[in-house]
Amino acid sequence: MYPPRFRYEAPRTLDEALALLADDDAKVLAGGQSLIPLIKLRFAQPALLVDINGLPGLGHHRETADGALEIGALCRHVDLERSELLPGRYPTMAACAPLVADPIVRSRGTLVGSLCHADPQGDWAAAMIALDGEVVARSTRGERRIPVGEFATGPFQNALEHDEIAVAARVPAARDTRYGAFLKLERRVGDFATAGLAVALEIADDGRVTRAGLALTGVGATTLTATDAAAALIGTRLEPEAVERAAELAAGIARPRSDHRGSAGYKRHVVATFTRRALAGFAPAGMAA
Ligand SMILES: Cc1cc2nc3c(=O)[nH]c(=O)nc-3n(C[C@H](O)[C@H](O)[C@H](O)COP(=O)(O)OP(=O)(O)OC[C@H]3O[C@@H](n4cnc5c(N)ncnc54)[C@H](O)[C@@H]3O)c2cc1C
Repeated sequence: MYPPRFRYEAPRTLDEALALLADDDAKVLAGGQSLIPLIKLRFAQPALLVDINGLPGLGHHRETADGALEIGALCRHVDLERSELLPGRYPTMAACAPLVADPIVRSRGTLVGSLCHADPQGDWAAAMIALDGEVVARSTRGERRIPVGEFATGPFQNALEHDEIAVAARVPAARDTRYGAFLKLERRVGDFATAGLAVALEIADDGRVTRAGLALTGVGATTLTATDAAAALIGTRLEPEAVERAAELAAGIARPRSDHRGSAGYKRHVVATFTRRALAGFAPAGMAA
């Protein structure tokens, strides 16, 4: 299907882009991997597309002076998949990157665009929630940060004002040794998650969990933050009872819908199984009680 008519602008500076967004009916175009299909299907009908691909200084992912990881709005999925920084320092993200969509989508789509699209089955939001990530939003009024856990306000809706651009996403600095996993059940390579789980743990020298982040994708109206499951792990050495309790609590908050990817009961079962599996993988030799 042909898209409806729209105006297209390709600003060269962030200020120009922000000024263009004053138009109520404008939409930011990043990788176009979600927006263009929506426009072609006429599910989205913006009057103006503000293409941010010509803006300088947004393609990076790097650690900042305060030790945080910053991912610019034009950093593609493939940049994160091939990153040398992520595997050692951000294992949750390193595990997530190659599971997002397929290589063609990964070559153009962006992590920030994925957060903005707010698909309840998107992968990155879960990884970023597990890591206490934030979205950095800019407008002519200044800059603000929004926790990724509060960023999706509903399916395909986010907390940005219409004239804000998400210029980056951030992961705060790790305090202790960080362990991470991202587990995704997909029917075939490139499919959205039937169910998925992101886990990020900080573990002190004595083997006790000092911080835990767990998030679920594909099993709710937005990506779900498994707060109680994470809390159940704090202070434990991932003993089997603690892991089992976390698995029960994580599955308990899942609100999946039965669909062509599987029944609600099956998806809840996958969440519990993934929680056990991910946490079993973390128990470092000599650390478990
Ligand atoms: C075949 C296919 C398979 C896919 N499979 C998966 C999958 O398995 N897992 C998964 O997570 N995703 C999957 N996706 C979705 C896709 O990977 C992401 O949603 C996409 O990469 C979003 O990033 P983008 O840069 O392409 O955003 P765009 O398509 O350009 O934009 C998406 C939305 O976000 C807004 N937006 C983008 N960037 C900004 C910004 N900087 N500031 C403000 N608003 C912004 C746009 O206005 C638009 O509303 C798939 C997509 C396709 C086409």
